[in-house]
Amino acid sequence: MNLEQRLGKLTDKRYGRSIAECTDAQLYNCVLQMTKEMMADKPVISGKKKVYYISMEFLIGKLLSNNLINLGVYEELAGILAKNGKDLSIIEEVEAEPSLGNGGLGRLAACFLDSIATLGLPGDGIGLNYHYGLFKQVFHDMRQSAQKNDWITGDSWLNPTGTSFQVCFGDRKVTSVLYDIDVIGYENGCNKLHLFDVATVDESLVKDGIHFDKTAIEKNLTLFLYPDDSDEAGNLLRIYQEYFMVSNGAQLIIKELKEKGCDLYHMDEYVAVQINDTHPTMVIPELIRILTWEEGFTMEDAVDVVSRTCAYTNHTILAEALEKWPLSYMEKVVPQLVPIMKELSARVAKKYKNPKVQIIDSDKRVHMAHIDIHYGYSVNGVAAIHTDILKDTELHDFYELYPEKFNNKTNGITFRRWLLSCNRELAALLASLIGDGYKKDADQLEKLLDKAGDKAVLDALEGIKKQKKEELAAYIQEKEGVRLDTDSIFDIQVKRLHEYKRQQMNALYIIHKYLEIKGGKKPVRPMTFLFGAKAAPAYVIAQDIIHLLLVLEKIVNHDPDVSPYMKVVMVENYNVSYAEKLIPACDVSEQISLASKEASGTGNMKFMLNGAVTLGTSDGANVEIHELVGDDNIYIFGEKSDTVIGHYKKADYVSREYYKKSPVIRKAVDFIVSKEALAVGHKENLERLHKELLNKDWFMTLLDLEDYIKVKDQMFADYEDRDRWKRMMLVNIAKAGFFSSDRTIAEYNRDIWKL
Ligand SMILES: *Cc1c(COP(=O)(O)O)cnc(C)c1O
Repeated sequence: MNLEQRLGKLTDKRYGRSIAECTDAQLYNCVLQMTKEMMADKPVISGKKKVYYISMEFLIGKLLSNNLINLGVYEELAGILAKNGKDLSIIEEVEAEPSLGNGGLGRLAACFLDSIATLGLPGDGIGLNYHYGLFKQVFHDMRQSAQKNDWITGDSWLNPTGTSFQVCFGDRKVTSVLYDIDVIGYENGCNKLHLFDVATVDESLVKDGIHFDKTAIEKNLTLFLYPDDSDEAGNLLRIYQEYFMVSNGAQLIIKELKEKGCDLYHMDEYVAVQINDTHPTMVIPELIRILTWEEGFTMEDAVDVVSRTCAYTNHTILAEALEKWPLSYMEKVVPQLVPIMKELSARVAKKYKNPKVQIIDSDKRVHMAHIDIHYGYSVNGVAAIHTDILKDTELHDFYELYPEKFNNKTNGITFRRWLLSCNRELAALLASLIGDGYKKDADQLEKLLDKAGDKAVLDALEGIKKQKKEELAAYIQEKEGVRLDTDSIFDIQVKRLHEYKRQQMNALYIIHKYLEIKGGKKPVRPMTFLFGAKAAPAYVIAQDIIHLLLVLEKIVNHDPDVSPYMKVVMVENYNVSYAEKLIPACDVSEQISLASKEASGTGNMKFMLNGAVTLGTSDGANVEIHELVGDDNIYIFGEKSDTVIGHYKKADYVSREYYKKSPVIRKAVDFIVSKEALAVGHKENLERLHKELLNKDWFMTLLDLEDYIKVKDQMFADYEDRDRWKRMMLVNIAKAGFFSSDRTIAEYNRDIWKL
């Protein structure tokens, strides 16, 4: 039976209609079902040893397009649908986006699953099935409001498995249910993403917005990702979630090991457990607990084998993200783990006197990362500069104890989603120029360098960029109600909202340009500034920055003197699907974090691959992008990480001095509380942000603002040298091969998992 007959049979059986007669939603359901069946027919990837990638987040995005591509049937199906008067790209829109992650960390986990399967390695994800995931962002009155994201619709990628475990907490016991999502490799077999849920979850607990009773654990455990942790109940719920995930994960791992008939004393020969940031750290004491309580291990033997099985990835040096839980919380939620954590801590204390490497500190807080480092066999950072900072500064005392454990694995992105799926036109052009080999061997993109002098190729790249800008402009017109000029330069900053990422610095540039235009200095070419970002609901300054961006959008776009030259759009509910539309349309990729603060970034890689030129600081993977493309194909500005780290050490950064010294900075900053801004926005938000920038500015916005303005102006001027710019686009695409997550995963496997 060919694909068309197969789909026709499904539409007939389910709706009594032919393909042509079905609605888009009906077709989506049938294509979903057919795709799931095709994936189920693929061999399960197997081998002696398997990696379990445990993560609180898997920001997988919509799956239909990617699964069809990896099955190798996308084009064929698109053709069949077109023949029946249907459009696959419209049918794809029916799918709800699972929002099972916050940002980069969760998206990385999703890219890794794709690459693990693509490389044919046995490897499953373990996570939670949040019913409402991360909140959906809605703008009300120029402020962010958080709504639940109801992504689990009747038909979905989730497959019930019948597997179920008991999870005991200090004060209750809950029953889990396991759903699996098949993960198909590109032209390869299948692995699984295991998502655990509670049998007793109760969606009706959610009242207005994302509010619910945080103490009703049986009902709320898997409702939301990262419930508000600004109060104790939120923190406790977070620990309940973490333990629920690792207890289920550990039980699943032991069950699968036993099914394989393997000797648990040698479990490290069959399993690697990759701990994605500190959230799944309790898997270490939990595995030790199971082995000692249920499998008759001595403590010595259990600690030994678990330490040879677990490996830890560090994602950040921001102190707030390195979890430290009060021992009293642990005693309430997971009392059974407390004696084990105390034993692990006591062993460390006996061997090492340094207070900085202890697991339980003198304030009785448990340092989760310290458990990972002492009792895991590998510690990796996610970009070269980040791993160096870990070794030299943040984790220096641990590096001295265990130099052999530390290694770098520069992040990557799956090219199937971030090129083949989101930019089919570019993927096809590349295939016509250098062949299909790059789809599996990303380094082959370098062959494109031979075409750097070929005018027809450069024009084709420009043509695709223009087409993607037009597609984005149409979408934004529909969704956000703003008309964009596709001859303008598209400057895009999309990522989580955080002060260290410095969206506020970009906002100050926009204010600066606005004032210039008002003063009569018109730019050569119109500029479009696009933002997308969610902010943690309890993060006050981040809410203020969103407010400022929305205020600027209103002022700029409605000012007849300015709007012909400049538009600002803060898109609502930035997520993976939006990223897939924004990134191919980008000219200037904003990667402007305070040097030393962005561990890697992966957005920077997606933009580069799609022919955007980076405007960035020497931070995270920007450093490696810079090395690859060379000075002529990137715009780097701002202070270097050592200087920034020096400022923190000496506590000598005073933002007000930069403000006093520079009239340009002063005018831009003061605009935030100007009559014009206050006429449009809220005094409370704007005054608080203004005060913050002048009196604290913890992430040093003003430190780099003048250099940022200078380099950005230069970049916009260089855009007018169209031939040069097109060559820059080409070089960026050609050098992006290093950032394929296939390369990252091959390195994880070579150095850590050894599957
Ligand atoms: C890639 C991605 C991120 C990470 O972006 P950074 O710029 O690296 O912070 C966040 N959110 C979404 C939806 C993404 O696709």
